Amino acid sequence: MSRVVLILFVAVLAILPAVQATPEFWITHLNYIGLATLVVLGLVLLTGVGGLTSFGQAAFVGLGAYTTAWLTTAFGWSPWLTLLVGLALTFCFAYVLGSLTLRLSGHYLPLGTLAWSLSLYYLFGNLQFLGQHDGIAGIAPLDLFGLSFGDGRTMYYLIWVIVLFSLWATRNLLDSRPGRAIRALKSGSGMAESFGINTARYKTIIFVYAALLACVSGWLYAHMQRAVSPSPFGLNYGIEYLFMAVVGGASSVWGAVIGSGIILTLKDQLQNVLPKLLDTTANFELIVFGVLMILVLQFAREGVWPILTGWFSALTGSDHVRQRQAPAPAPLLVQRGRPEAGSLVLEVDEIRKEFGGLVAVNDISFKLKAGEIMGLIGPNGAGKSTTFNLITGVLQATRGSVRFLGQRLENLPAREISRLGVGRTFQHVQLLPTMTVLENVALGAHLRSDVGVVSAVLHTDRRDEAELLHEAARQLERVGLGDYLYEQAGNLALGQQRILEIARALAADPVLLLLDEPAAGLRYKEKQDLARVLDQLRQEGMSILLVEHDMDFVMNLTDHLVVMDFGTKIAEGMPANIQTNPAVLEAYLGGIDDDLELDQPDAPPGAVAGVAATGSAS
Ligand code: ADP
Ligand code: MG
Repeated sequence: MSRVVLILFVAVLAILPAVQATPEFWITHLNYIGLATLVVLGLVLLTGVGGLTSFGQAAFVGLGAYTTAWLTTAFGWSPWLTLLVGLALTFCFAYVLGSLTLRLSGHYLPLGTLAWSLSLYYLFGNLQFLGQHDGIAGIAPLDLFGLSFGDGRTMYYLIWVIVLFSLWATRNLLDSRPGRAIRALKSGSGMAESFGINTARYKTIIFVYAALLACVSGWLYAHMQRAVSPSPFGLNYGIEYLFMAVVGGASSVWGAVIGSGIILTLKDQLQNVLPKLLDTTANFELIVFGVLMILVLQFAREGVWPILTGWFSALTGSDHVRQRQAPAPAPLLVQRGRPEAGSLVLEVDEIRKEFGGLVAVNDISFKLKAGEIMGLIGPNGAGKSTTFNLITGVLQATRGSVRFLGQRLENLPAREISRLGVGRTFQHVQLLPTMTVLENVALGAHLRSDVGVVSAVLHTDRRDEAELLHEAARQLERVGLGDYLYEQAGNLALGQQRILEIARALAADPVLLLLDEPAAGLRYKEKQDLARVLDQLRQEGMSILLVEHDMDFVMNLTDHLVVMDFGTKIAEGMPANIQTNPAVLEAYLGGIDDDLELDQPDAPPGAVAGVAATGSAS
C-alpha cells in the first residue's frame, strides 16, 4: 500500500472515535472488524501464503476468550496475566495439533482443524465450570495503569493498535529470512528442503502464529463483550473467517482488513435487509454468502485486495515497483573452508536406484576432486537426473553409498546434505515465480544466517537481512543477472531462470555444485558467459558435476566425463577420449530418433554426430 494511503487510513482510524458525531454503532462495528482482522491475518499467512487450510481458527479465538473469562471471573486473575496463560495454552494446543497433522500431506490439516473445532465447541458447551451453553458472564473490562477500556471508544483504540501492530509484524515476517522460507511452502517445498529449509518446522510456525493471533482476538472479545458463550467459536465462524481471507485476498496482509470489513459489513446489512425482503428471520445471509463465494472464486480468485491495488495504480500511474537500486553493500557472509585442490570431494560407490522393475541407476561409481568439473552425459532417460537426486538426498538409493568429504550422504535428508555444502540446480526450473529474482537467490543463502521469527517480526534483523540480500545481489551480479534484481522471477526467460538457479545455489556457499542441464535454453553468447563463470568457480576450488546435452559446452569445459546409458555407466575418461569411444557413439547413434529437429533446434557446430540430437528436456 502506498505510504500516503497508509497514513490516511491510520489517520481516519485514529480520528473516528474522537469525533463525537461518529455513531456508536460504527465504533462497535469497527471493533468487530478489528477483532476479525486479527484472526483473518493469521489465515492470510497460513492459507494464503503457506497454502495450509484451517477451519479451526474460531476455536482458537474461543480458547483465548474462555481462558480469560474463566480465570478472571473464578479466580480474580489480572486479564494481562490471563492473556499470557491463553497464549501459552494456545501455543501448546496449536503446536501439538500442528505437529500431528502438518507432516501428513493433503487433507489431514483441514480435517484435523475441523475435528479440533468441533470438539472444543462441545467442550465449551458441556463443561460445568465454563457455564455450559450459557457461558460465562460478568467479565470485567480491561484496564491499564488506571485507564479503563470499559466503553467502545477506548476499546476501539486498544483493538486497532493491536491490529496495526500485528499487520506491521506480519509484513516484517514475510519480508525476512524466515518469511522467504514461509513463502516457499506452498509451491516450492522440495526445492526449499534442498536449500536446508525445514519445511515441516515452518508449517508448524505459521500454524502456531495464526493460532496466537486468534487467541489475542478472543481475549479482546471476552473483555469487550464482558461475556462469552460457545456459539461464536463454532465451526460456522471458522468457515466465515476463511471466507473473509479468500474475499479480501489471501496473499496480502491488507486482504485481512478488507476481507473482514467487507464480510462483516455485508453480513450486517443483509441481516437488516433480508428479513424485510423475505419476511422471515431465518439466516438467509449464509445463502447469499455461498453465492458470493462462488462469484469470488470465479471472477476474483486472488480476492479483492489485488483489484483495489490495481485500480489505485491505474489512478495514480504508479507501477508499484518500489526499489530499483541494488541492496546497499554490507559485510560479506562467512564462507566455509574449501577442501585442498585435488583432494577427493565426492565418491559415488555402486549407487543403485530401482523404480519398481525399472533400474534407473545401475550400480554407478565415480569420483570427483576439488577444483574439477565433471560431466555426466548420456541420452534421455539414461538416469542422470536420478543420479543427481540420489546424491542430493531427494531420492533414497536402493543401495550403494555416496561419500562427500568423507561423510556418508545416502541416508541423509536433502536439507542436511545441503547444510554440508552441496548446492544444486534443477532440470525443471524450481523458482518462486512471484518473488523477486533477488529474494529467490536470498532463499539459497538461508543456512548462512540464523535470523528467527521473533527478530524478523520485530524488525531487529535488518543487519543480517542486508548481508543476505547483499550476498544474493553479489551472486546475481556474478552470473550476469545484476540488472534483474527486482524483476519477478517468473518474468525471466527460461534460460535466465536457469542462471538464476545457479546464483541461488552459489548463494548457499557450496563446496560441490550439481548443475542439471544449465545451458538448456541459453543462446550461444549466454552459454559462453556461463562457461566462463563455471571456469572461474573451478579456479576458486569449487567442484562441479554437470549434466548437459550441448556437447561443445561439455567438451570444452569438463575435466572428466562419465557416460551413462539405460542407467549403466558405459564409459569414463577425458573428454577427448570419450568423443571417439565406440560404445559412446553407438549409444548416441542408437539414441537418434524421429524428433531429431524438435529436440535441439540450436545444435552447436562441432557436436558429436547425433549427440546433440538427443538433447531435450527429458
Ligand atoms: P535423464 O536425466 O538421464 O534423462 P532420468 O534420471 O530423469 O534420466 O530418468 C531415468 C529413468 O528413470 C527414466 O526411464 C525415467 O522414466 C525413470 N524415472 C525417473 N524418475 C522416476 C520416478 N520418480 N518414478 C519412476 N520412474 C522414474
Ligand atoms: Mg534429466
